[in-house]
Amino acid sequence: MLPVDNHLHTRLCGHASGEIYEYLDAAARRGIREVGFCDHLPLYFLPPEKTIPGYAMSESDLPGYVSMVKSRARQAPVRVKLGIEADFVPGHEDHLANILASYRFDFVTGSVHFIDGWGFDNPAELAEYARRDIDAVYRRYFALLQQAALTGLFDIMAHPDLVKKFNLRPTRDPRPLYEETARVFKSAGVCVEVNTAGLRYPVKEIYPGPELLEIFFKYGLPVTLGSDAHLPEDVGAGLPAAVELIKNTGYREVATFSGRQIKFVKI
Ligand code: ZN
Ligand code: ZN
Ligand code: FE
Ligand code: FE
Repeated sequence: MLPVDNHLHTRLCGHASGEIYEYLDAAARRGIREVGFCDHLPLYFLPPEKTIPGYAMSESDLPGYVSMVKSRARQAPVRVKLGIEADFVPGHEDHLANILASYRFDFVTGSVHFIDGWGFDNPAELAEYARRDIDAVYRRYFALLQQAALTGLFDIMAHPDLVKKFNLRPTRDPRPLYEETARVFKSAGVCVEVNTAGLRYPVKEIYPGPELLEIFFKYGLPVTLGSDAHLPEDVGAGLPAAVELIKNTGYREVATFSGRQIKFVKI
């Protein structure tokens, strides 16, 4: 049995497919006890005319997302939690806090997908790496991630080393940056997501990689698990490898969330 898959999308975001019951049936078939839907929050930090189509649900879809997950939860073959994946963009914290306060999410997952307006994990914006210093990109990414954690708006920090997605690695030793990030996460009281989507991208590695995960463990940070499925077939994808990775690192439990309270399940 797999304890939890806390990162499932739905077709409301415009780049995922499959019906919600198909995600739930897949979870039940794969022996997953609990799932957390974690679809992309509307792009609250962009003016409506600048919104990116096919990136996230529209603001008018958010109440429907919440009620769809809540109503499915009552008749699902597995336990279902209501989460949301919210982008962090500095300067828009109050706006985000206001949206989050309008719903009773079980958990809020914070993501950094934009570095000062650059969608660095978007294949369409890959060319920008050639114009940048990779070490500076890593420093800025982790600085934003730390800033996100310190807002107190997020329970879970998503795919913590997403910046490695295209397997463009820093030339300098990233460990001091990792240590600093772990220290900040600890003081912020956040949980870290062990996200298997990296296995499906050029980096071919779970987020976080073993070196970063070891540092998170050393700082006593809790972990949860997520496949980041955008298709029913990907529910639970890579999770057995993620469980093995966290066990080998020393973890004996994973976190789940209800009403934004953390709980632990033995693994
Ligand atoms: Zn997505
Ligand atoms: Zn805003
Ligand atoms: Fe994400
Ligand atoms: Fe996601």
